[in-house]
Amino acid sequence: MQSIEIGQTTRLIVLLGDPVAHSLSPIFQNAAFQAAGVDGVYLSLRASTDDFPGLFLGIARAGGGGNVTLPHKLVAAQLIERRTKEVDSTGACNTFWLEDGVVCGDNTDVAGVRGAVDLLTGSPRGARVLLLGAGGAARAALTALLDDGADSIHLLNRTPARAAEIIEEFSESPHHRSVAPGVLHLVEPGTDLGDEHFDLVINATSLGLREADPLPIDLEALGGCGAALDLVYSPEETRWVREARELGIPAADGIEMLIQQGVVAFGRWWRIDPSVEVMRAALAAATTGLTPPAPTTS
Ligand code: NAP
Repeated sequence: MQSIEIGQTTRLIVLLGDPVAHSLSPIFQNAAFQAAGVDGVYLSLRASTDDFPGLFLGIARAGGGGNVTLPHKLVAAQLIERRTKEVDSTGACNTFWLEDGVVCGDNTDVAGVRGAVDLLTGSPRGARVLLLGAGGAARAALTALLDDGADSIHLLNRTPARAAEIIEEFSESPHHRSVAPGVLHLVEPGTDLGDEHFDLVINATSLGLREADPLPIDLEALGGCGAALDLVYSPEETRWVREARELGIPAADGIEMLIQQGVVAFGRWWRIDPSVEVMRAALAAATTGLTPPAPTTS
């Protein structure tokens, strides 16, 4: 691990959530901070529901910033004083910073999903998508897919009422005026999808975090699948991604989303672009146990 110089003006950038110990964000953000030569340090802080608002606003008002993860993204969206359209559309905030004395927030998970989808498929424009899940990650995916012109999005969630709620909310949202009737569809759990072809299937459930989890969906039970994107990541590829590749389906796990959301967050804090290569190398080293190349300041 590279050492970080902490001085009188070092800026504190944090990840607030519960739990946070598993997060890879400190690893690749600190590597990118060093490579860019910015005077900051990125730390994970476990924040209880009671402590979160005070920590969040206190760190922001002191000139710091950071990321927010489960279970605080919705509360963060309520606390910020200036928001991006991605926060409006998802109702969640995962990145915060101070600008002109105002606490600002973005949801960079939207850019994260967009980057991962684009890398895997080129673009979702015109695509027929099956989206699994109805939590925060699914909302970010839905926002990116709608903004980028997916033809139809079919939502399947263990609790169908939550998926129905999202469809109603997004259909009526002023932030998605362009959602035409027939774009969003509810798929009830247990529906036979044997005749259905999807250009892209996205796993936005938490299934896959543990190797023993059941698969989010059996891809062989679908009529066809053009590509499979798992928003979950693990040190090895997830079992679902492994199975997709064995079936000859192009697939990717959530590492690219993690990097792409981190790239946009870095830009919010420092107003410059990070080195994506440094972020990738730090993550690859962390997940394979190898030492990353020393970052350069160029
Ligand atoms: P969330 O808001 O808690 O939503 C969890 C979703 O998973 C819900 O749809 C839930 O269904 C479903 N689910 C949970 N357990 C299930 C089970 N046993 N069977 C079927 N469905 C189940 O979480 P989130 O913020 O959306 O995050 C979801 C996953 O996305 C996380 O695990 C995380 O790994 C990943 N993620 C990745 C990134 C990245 O940068 N790569 C960023 C954000 C999130 P119900 O509605 O029925 O409970």
